[in-house]
Amino acid sequence: MAHKSERIYLSSPHMGSAEQLFIAEAFDTNWVAPVGPHITKFEEEVASYTGTAGAVALTSGTAAIHLALRALEVGVGDIVFCSTFTFVASANPIVYLGAEPVFIDSEPISWNMSPQALKRAFEAAQKNSAMPKAVVVVNLYGQSADYDEITKLCDQYNVPIVEDAAESLGAMYKGKASGSFGRFGIFSFNGNKIITTSNGGMVVSDDLDALRKIRFWSTQAKDSTKYYQHSEIGYNYRLSNVLAGIGRGQLLVLDDRVEARRKVFKRYEEGFSGLRGIHFMEEAPFGRMTRWLTALKLDPAIIAVSPEEIIEKLESKNIEARRVWKPMHRQPLYLHCNYFPHEEDGSVSDELFNQGLCLPSGSNLSPHQQNKVISAILQEII
Ligand SMILES: *Cc1c(COP(=O)(O)O)cnc(C)c1O
Repeated sequence: MAHKSERIYLSSPHMGSAEQLFIAEAFDTNWVAPVGPHITKFEEEVASYTGTAGAVALTSGTAAIHLALRALEVGVGDIVFCSTFTFVASANPIVYLGAEPVFIDSEPISWNMSPQALKRAFEAAQKNSAMPKAVVVVNLYGQSADYDEITKLCDQYNVPIVEDAAESLGAMYKGKASGSFGRFGIFSFNGNKIITTSNGGMVVSDDLDALRKIRFWSTQAKDSTKYYQHSEIGYNYRLSNVLAGIGRGQLLVLDDRVEARRKVFKRYEEGFSGLRGIHFMEEAPFGRMTRWLTALKLDPAIIAVSPEEIIEKLESKNIEARRVWKPMHRQPLYLHCNYFPHEEDGSVSDELFNQGLCLPSGSNLSPHQQNKVISAILQEII
């Protein structure tokens, strides 16, 4: 374990004090099952935190996107718009359902979906009579996309939004909780997210009928008969009661975790303050981000080393850093898909991928550990 404690991780689980109590309660009452009181409570608590009418706890954020898209009746041959600058799990569920993604670029301030690229995509779709069934909008690295602009466009074309808030639980957009802007919002409680159940996810919505349907599909879609009868395809996607117990404990410390990650960001900002050529992801004026990960761009005209070289250097010191997400339109898996860049001749996400870097940002990162990261980077670039 010594090695494990020495390594500085990008984002590692950070338990509070109540998780074990909730788990013990599940054991004591023998609710070690994919049903039980923690699940219902966890759903109510997340819905209440986000100001939505209801929630369904699932095994992953990916499952949550899958079932949200199914609830929107995405099916074979359909088109779904999706942010290009994201983790692959935002897009894969589109393909699970037999639909085809069309990728939309980022805008340079928030790094999230570009309203002007979205507008061009809608105009092209209308001209080709190939309107999307849904738009998956991603909130990256703890920052909301610009929902006023995006919702205006989606409403104009009457296309619902799935808000992929896997990375933005705890963030705000114009005073409202991230995840509450789409027809459905989804969260992830994977081990590296701001709070974790080891593996887990959630769908939130104001559409309680749709949530009932999602809950039904997530538990193998058993008809309400006394025997095993099935009329629809279902999945084994329900979060377990034990993991929901962890989630309830984590939710109690979510706001502390947000503050801690914002502090980590501040220390990086101070640590690199004298330096030219480092551009942190900006906090857009429309919201409050969590700084789930501190992400930055290195200006290649000023800084001679590449993100890859910095990552290797940090790795040699047992520090984990990562490139930013490789855009979906550049993934071998999705090269054949249509893509709408921010400007006709200028792709923001490509530039972010070439220049971007994510630094260790865990809420449990100590100032001492962080100083190690900062000095290693300073050594490399000065
Ligand atoms: C983590 C993540 C997901 C997937 O969540 P899982 O719980 O790992 O399935 C989806 N979208 C984004 C943007 C993510 O970062």
